[in-house]
Amino acid sequence: MLGLFGGTFDPPHIGHLAVGSAALDQLDIDEVRFVPAGQPWQKSTTRVVTPAEHRLEMVRLATADDARFVVDDIEIRRDGPSYTIDTVRDIGSPIMLILGADAAASIPTWDRAEDLLEIVEIAVIPRPGVDVDAVIASVPGTLRALSMPTIDLSATEIRDHVAAGYSPKYLVPDAVAEYIRLHGLYR
Ligand code: ATP
Repeated sequence: MLGLFGGTFDPPHIGHLAVGSAALDQLDIDEVRFVPAGQPWQKSTTRVVTPAEHRLEMVRLATADDARFVVDDIEIRRDGPSYTIDTVRDIGSPIMLILGADAAASIPTWDRAEDLLEIVEIAVIPRPGVDVDAVIASVPGTLRALSMPTIDLSATEIRDHVAAGYSPKYLVPDAVAEYIRLHGLYR
């Protein structure tokens, strides 16, 4: 079984890496596959998302030190909105979806959610302000909670921080901070 960890990753941050580590520790999976969304349908209507090539490269840099973290550009190569059900079907092998509690709570609104819930298992990670048990009780599927200290950090906060002129050092891996600086992202 492989752990599928999708996201916008704009930018990838230490919260994402801690999730990957908790998943490897606690799930019977061989790898965590990071899948940056090509066109995140939930986010691209409300804000300008950084071009996929930048997000993909930052995820590569963020995950380079751990051989069990794998990066897959499958959603970037596919045209149109990035729907998880398509990714799961394209990959074809048994999948444990790894989701923050906020993302897990929103599954019922996803494209073909019922089909998706039939074919994947889901691991839910705590996020501030979301009751993991309530999410697991309300989403009809095979869900379980992962244990992890709550990390109150989002990519939105990092973008805002950089836009305000501050460094994202220690909030993102050093190589990602350097990439953001080099390419003038989020200014
Ligand atoms: P944004 O602020 O841009 O919405 P984000 O930080 O929530 O971004 P995403 O790329 O949207 O990051 O998240 C990908 C996945 O990682 C989602 O399942 C999300 O719930 C999870 N995630 C992100 N940050 C954390 C965190 N600090 N703790 C646990 N899960 C997280």
